[in-house]
Amino acid sequence: MLEARIKQTLRDVADFPKPGIIFKDITPVLHNPQLCTEITKALAEQVKDLHIDVVAGIESRGFLFGLALAQALQVPFVPIRKVGKLPYKTVQQSYDLEYGSATLEVHEDAFKAGQNVLIHDDLLATGGTVVAASKLVALLGAKVAGYSFLISLDFLNGRERLKDFCTQVFSLAKF
Ligand code: IMP
Repeated sequence: MLEARIKQTLRDVADFPKPGIIFKDITPVLHNPQLCTEITKALAEQVKDLHIDVVAGIESRGFLFGLALAQALQVPFVPIRKVGKLPYKTVQQSYDLEYGSATLEVHEDAFKAGQNVLIHDDLLATGGTVVAASKLVALLGAKVAGYSFLISLDFLNGRERLKDFCTQVFSLAKF
């Protein structure tokens, strides 16, 4: 089963990026081209009925399978980046971290009004990051039609925070 193989391949790294955190390292997955192909196919299969117009991937690990997924669906890919990286005019959205805050931005012409956007990231934890990304989609008049993750840490209840935007939340490896 794909979920079991992803879980077996991921590497848990203790105390990264700070003491007490067990970080799910996806780099061993990226090392396995056959598994990456199967993951991309599975991510695309999960959302095939959602009429996705655009896949938006979140910097930086959301770019890895985000672009592959957009290619599989044959739709455009949009990078949502940390502030200061995008060259053209942007809209911005700040969000709270455990300590302090962060800001995401996207090009102001990234989405057209009314488009169905699939937000993709490698991992769903508390949901703060994708909530900020969802607000960017809404700011440009588009609609979040689904969320796609490689991994979700469901014990952190991130799915609950996404309900206000869209209830279509998919992940290939649930913890
Ligand atoms: P959230 O905003 O709390 O849902 O955190 C999700 C964001 O943090 C995503 O962009 C992830 O890439 C990153 N993240 C948090 N924990 C991990 C982890 O264990 N492995 C990989 N990325 C993580």
